[in-house]
Amino acid sequence: MSAHGPEVVLLMGPPGAGKGTQANLLAASRDLLKLSTGDMLRAHVKGGTELGTRAKRVMDEGGLVSDDIIIAMVKAELDRLDPIRVLLDGFPRTTVQAEALDELLADYGAAIDAAIELRVDDQELVRRLLGRARQEGRSDDNEATIRRRMAVYREQTEPLLDYYRRQGKVHDVDGVGTTEDVFERIEAALEGALAW
Ligand code: AMP
Repeated sequence: MSAHGPEVVLLMGPPGAGKGTQANLLAASRDLLKLSTGDMLRAHVKGGTELGTRAKRVMDEGGLVSDDIIIAMVKAELDRLDPIRVLLDGFPRTTVQAEALDELLADYGAAIDAAIELRVDDQELVRRLLGRARQEGRSDDNEATIRRRMAVYREQTEPLLDYYRRQGKVHDVDGVGTTEDVFERIEAALEGALAW
């Protein structure tokens, strides 16, 4: 068990903003478990599970996997943690998920402490995602899917930032620069918002 109390941090931002990379760094530095719903889904796809087969179609189109599936996956992970110390990457993505998360956390006596919004302009996002497509061969990194994922983000996920902003939880961070620079900005933004 961790020596620290509960802590919940959300890493938000459009596809290609660098959430995965920064999530790994931040989770390590703050002793948090990184929970990435995208990684969990990709593990299902790789393992050839029924869920993976269903999810792959949606992911390849750049759409969102159903809220029920995603919420159940996150709940199963949170159930194993005591105390709840998590960095959520790529979740929540819809209002339904955000509300479910608040309820789940309340059940565990925890709450969202901070949400980081990684900001990167669209042109740079597309450039990065196409580069990643060439390097990693992710099947959802082609141009049509990238455009769809960005549109889905703007329509369904970005409004959540207003919800958290009203609660004073959002910290905007410029996501353009070296990995180290962006990480330093995140740490600086969180200083004061979190206990240590
Ligand atoms: P990511 O690696 O976070 O960009 O996620 C890759 C894909 O997995 C997304 O484009 C969605 O199809 C799916 N996905 C990941 N997280 C979620 C979520 N919280 N809700 C719905 N779909 C998700």
